[in-house]
Amino acid sequence: MDIAAFEEFISQYPIFEYRILPTDTIAVEERVRMICEECPRYGSSWACPPGVGPLSVCYEKIHAFLQGIFFSSVAEVSDIMNMEELLSTRQAHEELTTEVGKYLTSLGYEIYILSTESCDICENCTYKEGKPCRFPDRMHPCLESHGVVVQEIAEREQMEYSLGGNTILWFSLVLYRERKQS
Ligand code: SF4
Repeated sequence: MDIAAFEEFISQYPIFEYRILPTDTIAVEERVRMICEECPRYGSSWACPPGVGPLSVCYEKIHAFLQGIFFSSVAEVSDIMNMEELLSTRQAHEELTTEVGKYLTSLGYEIYILSTESCDICENCTYKEGKPCRFPDRMHPCLESHGVVVQEIAEREQMEYSLGGNTILWFSLVLYRERKQS
């Protein structure tokens, strides 16, 4: 990928920091998914465990790509303890993530996106009905659903994980690879 062109592209967007990571540096850990089990969205969406598949499948999905763009955006809220307000800032990050994915697709890459929290595209997810996801190309499973330890990557890559105060950093990973010739 042409890094200069990518940097020019992202200069239009509020990406706070990014790294291009080889996927062989991305571990997946069952302990992260155990935290998912405490979440009310667990088992309610195709974007969460167990809908995303076993950890071994998540590992294969990530490592089917050689590299990915791991990036953060920052949002500010009036009260960091107000979960509703905090989560309301997530949508802008998801749209940003979609734009990064579109950019890579426009260059001819195949992509796979992992992002934040659960999917809320549909009012009622089809997961519990046992029907396929309505928008598999639009929904982004969360990084944690695949066992990715975001904090460890951020620390290893010397990226900010927390800015303190009433700010939140949202993270995404857009994996990409050359499209296979058919
Ligand atoms: S797009 Fe709809 S069906 Fe698919 S995971 Fe999201 S909420 Fe569920």
